[in-house]
Amino acid sequence: MAETSGSAGRPARRLLIVEDDRELGQMLVGLFAEHGYTVDLALDGQRGLHLGLTRGYDAMVIDRGLPVVDGIDLIRRLRARAVTTPMLVLTAFGDVTDRVTGLDAGAEDYLVKPFSIDELLARVRALLRRNLDQAVLLRLGAGWFEPDSQVVRLPNGEHVTLSGQECRLLRALASRPRQVHTRAALRNGVFEGSRAESIVDTYVYYLRNKLGPGVVHTVRGVGYRVGEL
Ligand code: CA
Repeated sequence: MAETSGSAGRPARRLLIVEDDRELGQMLVGLFAEHGYTVDLALDGQRGLHLGLTRGYDAMVIDRGLPVVDGIDLIRRLRARAVTTPMLVLTAFGDVTDRVTGLDAGAEDYLVKPFSIDELLARVRALLRRNLDQAVLLRLGAGWFEPDSQVVRLPNGEHVTLSGQECRLLRALASRPRQVHTRAALRNGVFEGSRAESIVDTYVYYLRNKLGPGVVHTVRGVGYRVGEL
C-alpha cells in the first residue's frame, strides 16, 4: 500500500482501526486521515488479527465487541505473538469489569462509547508518545535490549541471549516502561495457554538470573515493572 507523508514531513503514523460498525469505522478512517495518519480499517477481528500480525502499526484502536474474533480475544492473540503496539479499546459498556478485562488483556487504554472525537484523537496521540517512550526506554537500567535479536547488552560490554519466552516477557514489560503490569496481564499476553500466573514469576526469576536483580522490579501484590520511576 502507498506510503503517505504527514504534514510535518515525517512518515505518516500508521494506525489500525478494528471496528465492525462500518459507518463509524469509515468516519474514523476519514478523521484520522485528515489528521495525517495512514489508516487501515478491519471490519472483524479475524481481519484485524491478520493485519496486526503482518503490518507494522504505531497504534491500534480496537472495538470491544467484534464478530468472529472478539476485541479482547484479538488483543490477547496479538500480545501473545509479541505485538507490542499500543492499543486502545473502544467499549460500548461503561462497566468496570469490561474495562479491566481490556486492560488485563494487554490494552493500554480504553474509551467508552459514545466518545468525543477530540478525546479519541488526544488518547491516540498519548498512545503514540508512549510508543516513542518504548523505543527510548528499551534501554533498560542495566543494559540495552534488542528485541529483534533477543539480546541484552550489559553495561560491562557483555551480552546475554534470551530465550523466546524470556524475550517476549521482557518485551511486554518494556513496551510500557515504568508501568505496573499485573501478573494476569503478563500471563495472558505472554504465556497464552498457561493457567497459572506463577509461570510469570518463574520467567522473571530467569530474567533476573541473566540480567541481574535491578532490571525487573516487583510491585508487591500486583505484578512487575521495568524502568526507573
Ligand atoms: Ca462492535
